[in-house]
Amino acid sequence: MADLPYVTIDGSQGEGGGQILRSALAIAAVAGQPIFVDKIRSGRKKPGLMRQHLTAVRAIAEICDAELSGASPGSQSLSFTPKTVQPGAYEFRIGTAGSVTLVLQTILPALLTASGPSTVILEGGTHNPWAPPFDFLKHAWLPLVNRMGPQVTVELQEYGFFPAGGGRMILHVQPAPLLCGFDLPARGELLNRNVSILISNLPRSIATREARRIAGKLQWESVEIQQVSSAGPGNLVLAQLQYQHVTEVFTGFGRLGVSAEHVVQEVVRQVRRYLVTDAPVGEYLADQILLPLGLSAAAACAGANRKAGGTFRTLRLSRHSTTHLQLLQALLPISISVKSDSEPGVEVVTIGPRNPGN
Ligand code: AMP
Repeated sequence: MADLPYVTIDGSQGEGGGQILRSALAIAAVAGQPIFVDKIRSGRKKPGLMRQHLTAVRAIAEICDAELSGASPGSQSLSFTPKTVQPGAYEFRIGTAGSVTLVLQTILPALLTASGPSTVILEGGTHNPWAPPFDFLKHAWLPLVNRMGPQVTVELQEYGFFPAGGGRMILHVQPAPLLCGFDLPARGELLNRNVSILISNLPRSIATREARRIAGKLQWESVEIQQVSSAGPGNLVLAQLQYQHVTEVFTGFGRLGVSAEHVVQEVVRQVRRYLVTDAPVGEYLADQILLPLGLSAAAACAGANRKAGGTFRTLRLSRHSTTHLQLLQALLPISISVKSDSEPGVEVVTIGPRNPGN
């Protein structure tokens, strides 16, 4: 494995954020591919490795016993030479409110097809802006990953809101020998729609105002306030739409200097944008299912009676998604097509093996 030549990844391409690094590491670990990543996060205000990225790098290196250089705070380049993926029991602490869900998305692909089950404890931020909140990970993303064969569950033990952090979650992975792709052309029947408002170490009146406001705007059946405990203050508005084939979760973060009404408005805007079309996959979910689908397409030759890759309908792809697509095509033997759907504002993404039939 380690004899493969290094592939160089330009971390400044497209969106230029942490996802390029995390996804490159995740794929490299699965494929046993040595990589050199430079210009890491050069598109961000504070470029280079922050605590969350550093934890992700060290975590995946430990899991696949990789040789690593350049993994230090602020570093803008690193090399990563993976060996064999070792399933088992792990614990990783970020030490800030950096997102545990992003660390999880870096290590999970390798564990999904490992030779045995794994349990991973992750500490840091469970709910922070610019990352998938725990609820999105659990209810929107993981059900699609589980559709591919493995059985993955997550438990939230402590809430960790930005900026205090202090959260803790546990990941359990029952792997599958190969990932099986899926198609997601339609949402299916609406099963449930609800709003949860999380509030911690802040006046309950904030949540009450948010609840009243969002109930008036969306007119959904259920709006509940959850008073939770955590190391620092936190306030989140989560709107969840559960359909037969997909669940979407839209989030607004309460923050200093921003009114409760404004936070609600941010969520309502996302929900309405989603409901204008009937595409099943929203903006964030799209960029996060590309990698598992890409891996299932790349393993095409390994399993004859297995669906490799898949097709899904989504809202117009974000820059995160288009950057992610470029990266996947550079690292995996897959082909990707993005076409406009007959419905305005909707795109159809198809990921498959590069040379079907070969
Ligand atoms: P990056 O900015 O490159 O570190 O990547 C951030 C990741 O977080 C992307 O995969 C986004 O899709 C994801 N993300 C950011 N905000 C949300 C949100 N509110 N809900 C779900 N995912 C999110």
